[in-house]
Amino acid sequence: MSVLSDTSLVGATAAQLAALVASGDASAREVAQAHLERISATDPAVHAFLHVDAAGALAAADAVDAARARGDALGPLAGVPLALKDVFTMRGMPTTCGSRILEGWLPPYDATVTRRLREASVVVLGKTNMDEFAMGSSTENSAYGPTANPWDLTRIPGGSSGGSAAAVAARQATLALGTDTGGSIRQPAAVCGLVGVKPTYGGVSRNGLVAFSSSLDQAGPLARTVLDAALLHATIAGHDPLDSTSIDQPPPDVVAAASRRDVGGMRIGVVRELAGEGYQPGVEARFREAVALLEELGAQVVEVSCPSFAYALPAYYLIAPSECSSNLARFDAMRYGLRVGDDGEHGAEEVMSRTRAAGFGPEVIRRIMIGTYALSSGYYDAYYGQAQKVRTLITRDFTAAFDDVDVLVSPTTPTVAFPLGERTGDPMAMYAADLCTIPANLAGTPAMSVPCGLADGLPVGLQVMAPALADERMYRLAGALEAELDARRGHALLDEAPVLDEALA
Ligand code: GLN
Repeated sequence: MSVLSDTSLVGATAAQLAALVASGDASAREVAQAHLERISATDPAVHAFLHVDAAGALAAADAVDAARARGDALGPLAGVPLALKDVFTMRGMPTTCGSRILEGWLPPYDATVTRRLREASVVVLGKTNMDEFAMGSSTENSAYGPTANPWDLTRIPGGSSGGSAAAVAARQATLALGTDTGGSIRQPAAVCGLVGVKPTYGGVSRNGLVAFSSSLDQAGPLARTVLDAALLHATIAGHDPLDSTSIDQPPPDVVAAASRRDVGGMRIGVVRELAGEGYQPGVEARFREAVALLEELGAQVVEVSCPSFAYALPAYYLIAPSECSSNLARFDAMRYGLRVGDDGEHGAEEVMSRTRAAGFGPEVIRRIMIGTYALSSGYYDAYYGQAQKVRTLITRDFTAAFDDVDVLVSPTTPTVAFPLGERTGDPMAMYAADLCTIPANLAGTPAMSVPCGLADGLPVGLQVMAPALADERMYRLAGALEAELDARRGHALLDEAPVLDEALA
């Protein structure tokens, strides 16, 4: 069977692969090899990866096979291949964050999340493409060129975790990790037909994850099924003394919730403000059908108003740039990566300024300038302070809504994947891709995207939002919806996407 059409290993879910490896029906090496071959065959067209570590992946796989041969107990994701967004540090692999300024930088440590992956015997295949420093919604802001959507190679895979999403949708990796500051896990998941989760802020350690906007950044899973996302979430979650914002409580039992497959009695609020003008009719139709289905399955559905959500986008585009202008000050040509003009003729400040001008792309420079302005004396109260007040109002909207309902739902994105190049010249149009996802980041509450069908042949995502620390509620709803949609369709949504293979055949 050709690498392109062999779906036995590259099409399997993480839960299935882990079972195959544990039973000895497949070796972890065979699993890793199949995915590395799939990457070789498809990545010239998709460009999901910035770095593939074949030797490291095979060594990790061999360690799993050796552990099994010794009779050691294997964890629930042992031997499962994963693609890591290039914002997580991992010893032995470069970390670029999609930026020239970090080209060639080899981190001397593992992020806490990466360490947990190693401890769980997950096989890390390599680092994935992303918008520079996670700023963007299409992966077109990468300094290393864009990634294509495996459903239609002329369209964006979403961003900023577009490489991670494309890798899973293209069956190059079974799982991936992304980060979500304003939607960068959920939006790519939605437009690539995947499950993507932003856990409660503080639920997953940020230690060793290169910071964009520290009060908003959160790492989380991308997967083909709700259960796979839960297994990865459970692997990376939990308290970390190395992250001062990490929550010191046992993580929610998302795996049990993902398998429950019942929404009887659940109270679901449809957010009135996340609909209407600017939303593609096909997206609204799939969303409404999914909500009707949940009602049929026994959930109670009501409409809920969150009036301050209307100001989420402007508040985010003051707060995130403000924090980034401070976080990115560390890229000063002295500590990491690129250094320009260090020829004995120029002073340190000149070297810093030349390096930053050469090393950062236009979107990153735009954000640093907006953030520096918003934080400057005389403007701080009018911009940054005002945005923080809006943030409080948004949190209050969530709190009030969750007095009445268990979860909130909306479309994940206003449109399906748009064509590459369509919004690169129009930052405001690009920012609008995160209209629905940003409120949860501002409030620190968990949110997830689960596929709810196709519009014009392209995936549509349904967003589920829950109160802080109640991540399991989203998995319960998403697991039930996924099971029902798969049963009615007769197969999983991703089995409908031979598009990539056809394009490459
Ligand atoms: N698209 C949003 C931005 O450009 C969100 C990015 C993210 O979540 N990392 O900032």
